[in-house]
Amino acid sequence: MIAAFEYFAPKTVKEALSLLSKYKEEAKMIAGGQSMLVVMRQRLLTPEYVIDIKGLTTLEYIKYDDKQGLRIGALTIHRDIEKSPVIQKHFGVLSEMEGNLATIQTRNWGTIGGNLCHSDPAGDPATVFIALKAKFKLASSGKERIVEADEFSTDYLEADLKPGEMLAEIQVPTPAPHTGTAYEKLMVMKGDMGVVGAAVSITLDSKDSCQDARIALSNCSSVPLRAKKAEKVLIGKTINDGLLTKAGEVAATEATPPSDVHGSAEYRREMVKVFVKRVAKLALERAKAA
Ligand SMILES: Cc1cc2nc3c(=O)[nH]c(=O)nc-3n(C[C@H](O)[C@H](O)[C@H](O)COP(=O)(O)OP(=O)(O)OC[C@H]3O[C@@H](n4cnc5c(N)ncnc54)[C@H](O)[C@@H]3O)c2cc1C
Repeated sequence: MIAAFEYFAPKTVKEALSLLSKYKEEAKMIAGGQSMLVVMRQRLLTPEYVIDIKGLTTLEYIKYDDKQGLRIGALTIHRDIEKSPVIQKHFGVLSEMEGNLATIQTRNWGTIGGNLCHSDPAGDPATVFIALKAKFKLASSGKERIVEADEFSTDYLEADLKPGEMLAEIQVPTPAPHTGTAYEKLMVMKGDMGVVGAAVSITLDSKDSCQDARIALSNCSSVPLRAKKAEKVLIGKTINDGLLTKAGEVAATEATPPSDVHGSAEYRREMVKVFVKRVAKLALERAKAA
C-alpha cells in the first residue's frame, strides 16, 4: 500500500515551484504517475508531500522554428509528440520512437518530462535526445539552468535535479544539413522497454564523409549511455560496412549492461553490436537523403 502523503495540485508553475522550494527533499512531483505510482507502491519512494503538476497546461506545448529548433514543454504527453505533424516533418525519429514506447494508454497519460526525470536507463526518449544533442531547461523559484541531455541522468533512477528544481522544457537544435538520425530497440513485444536500444545521428560533409556522429545506448549502463569511443570510429571517415561493424564492436566495449531475466550482459553486448551497426546504417541512409 502507498504510504500516506499530503497532496497539492498547484494551478501555476510559480505555485508548483514555491511548494517544491518549501518542502524540498520531502516533496516529489507527480505528472502522469505512470512511473511514480509504481515506485510509491513499492515504497521505493515515500514522499511526505506530493505535488501534482499534471494540470500545468502552460508546460504542454510543441514549438518549432528553423532558428530556435524544437521546444517541448515537460508536461507534453508522449502521444502528442508521436502525432505532432511538426515533429513528424523535422524530427521523424522522435515520432518513431514514441510509436514504440509502451501502450497507447500509457502514451496518452505519461509525460515526456516524467519519463526523463524518472531516469530509467532503459527509457527510450533520453537516448534519442542524446543523439539529437538536446538540452534540458530546469526551473526553480526565480532561477533556470540548462543541462546537456547526456549529463542529465546521474545514476540508476537518479537525475541531475537539485532540491526545488523541476524540468520545464526540452530543447532540440535544428540538425545540421545532411544529418540523419535513427533509433531502434530490441523488443520482445511491440511497446516493451528495450532489452537494449541504440540511437545514432550522422552528419555528412559535401564529400559524403562523416563530419559528426552521436551514438547513444539504452539499457546498457546505469544511465542512458553516450558511446563516445564508437562515435570517434566514424567521425572524419567515409563510412563503409567495415566501419559500421567496428563502431558496433567499440560501442559494445563501452557498455556495462545488466544481466536480468531479459538477457545476460554478454547477450546485451552482442545485441549492441547488431543494433549500433543496423541503426547507424539507417542514419547514414537518411543523412545521404537529407
Ligand atoms: C506499462 C508501461 C510500459 C512502459 N514502457 C516504456 C517504454 O517502452 N519506454 C519508455 O521509455 N518508457 C516506458 N514506460 C515508462 C513511461 O514512459 C513513464 O512511466 C512515463 O513517461 C512517466 O511519465 P509520467 O508523466 O507518468 O511521470 P510520473 O510517473 O508522474 O513521474 C516520474 C518521475 O519524474 C518526476 N517528474 C515528473 N515530471 C517532472 C518534472 N517536470 N520535473 C521534475 N520531476 C518530474 C516525478 O517526481 C517522478 O520521480 C512504461 C511505463 C508503463 C507503465
